[in-house]
Amino acid sequence: MLKTLRSLFANRCPQCQRTIQSRQDSLHVLKYCPQGHYKEETYATLGVRIVYDSK
Ligand SMILES: [Zn+2]
Repeated sequence: MLKTLRSLFANRCPQCQRTIQSRQDSLHVLKYCPQGHYKEETYATLGVRIVYDSK
C-alpha cells in the first residue's frame, strides 16, 4: 500500500492528480505541481533533497 502511494506520488500531485513537472539545470532538479501544491528540489552535488508540501 505504502509502495503504491509512493510511486503515484512520484509522478502525480497528491492533491490534484496532475502530472508532476520537472526541470533541471546545472545546480539542481526541480519537480513541481503545475498548480503549486507540491515542490521538490534535489541538489545532487550536495546530496540534499528538499520537499515543499503545502498541506
Ligand atoms: Zn497539485
